[in-house]
Amino acid sequence: MPSRLAEIERKVLASERLSAAEGEYLYQPQVDLHAIGRLADEVRRRKNGDIVSYNINAHLNPTNICLYRCPLCAYSCDPGDPKAFLMTDRDVLAVGREAAENGCTELHIVGGVHPEKDFAWHRDLLARLHEAFPRLLLKAWTAVEIARFAHQSGRSLESILGELVAAGLCSLPGGGAEIFAPGVRRLICPAKADAATWLEVHRTAHRLGLKTTATMLYGHVETPTDRIDHLLRLRRLQDETGGFQAFIPLAFHPENTKLAHLARPTGLDNLRTVAISRLVLDNFPHVKAYWISLGVGTAQIALGYGADDLDGTVRQERIHHDAGSTAPESLTVAELEAIIREAGRRPVERDTLYRRVKRTGIDWTIDSD
Ligand code: SF4
Repeated sequence: MPSRLAEIERKVLASERLSAAEGEYLYQPQVDLHAIGRLADEVRRRKNGDIVSYNINAHLNPTNICLYRCPLCAYSCDPGDPKAFLMTDRDVLAVGREAAENGCTELHIVGGVHPEKDFAWHRDLLARLHEAFPRLLLKAWTAVEIARFAHQSGRSLESILGELVAAGLCSLPGGGAEIFAPGVRRLICPAKADAATWLEVHRTAHRLGLKTTATMLYGHVETPTDRIDHLLRLRRLQDETGGFQAFIPLAFHPENTKLAHLARPTGLDNLRTVAISRLVLDNFPHVKAYWISLGVGTAQIALGYGADDLDGTVRQERIHHDAGSTAPESLTVAELEAIIREAGRRPVERDTLYRRVKRTGIDWTIDSD
């Protein structure tokens, strides 16, 4: 093993933190991917043993009309576009009902930032769902949406988030982070909230006691330096708050976006990114192999490269599929558990807050043991 990699191995085995330069070094193509993977797998084993978690969840995307129209996005459209949609209350409740009747513990709610829908509309959507299906945990609105509510209403992040919690919010999803470096954001998502705002929303959420997740959308115009910068900004915030539960690397799908001329990240890049994330984010409990983004096969292999969570059953996902994801739109519990067992791990159902779920059919309770 070359001496620099040997030194990184020594540090990882001694639970010492990797530097930015070491993270960037691991991205060099000549550095053995499988050696990095073995180290990340050791960190994964130390933190989570042989358990791979998943949850039974559904996605709700209430609208695809978005005022930001990011070049990276294949999902959004302008009002009046033939593919534009905006769900009615009835549509929203129908998705909630289907999720509840199928035993989901979580409803994951994100969508376009509709130019005419204000904070009250978003809060009331949550409140109606929470009232109708109080057991469904609502993981809703990315930092981009939360920042827009605060800006639009002239209120603080704290008061917006506090009101959403009172309406039934359980957790914030990690979307909208993309790549934090401003030069990259100018090219892929120039109009949406910047890095400092994204981080401040999560900082505030953590201060209020909410748990959240974080993402990184990679494989477009960014460099390895930008990726490591992104991970280090997350690691610093996690040192400060401890509020992130999981990191989710998202492979960019260029199809139907303004960046359609770019090639997708390769399977090897996907595995390297999962492994480096596990090594650099030493203070994150979980790294997720989001099968919708990676594809089922790569997600299963990623379980040997540092990932310990497969996300969930996911019903009716549109955002990644509009951008060309060829993964199925949902997986059954039997399929998820088979993927995990075939990888030599023990499947455990969790809820949004990573509590173990005890289940009999569609009935479930939180395992307090
Ligand atoms: Fe809107 Fe999100 Fe798409 Fe950007 S990525 S255009 S914020 S839906």
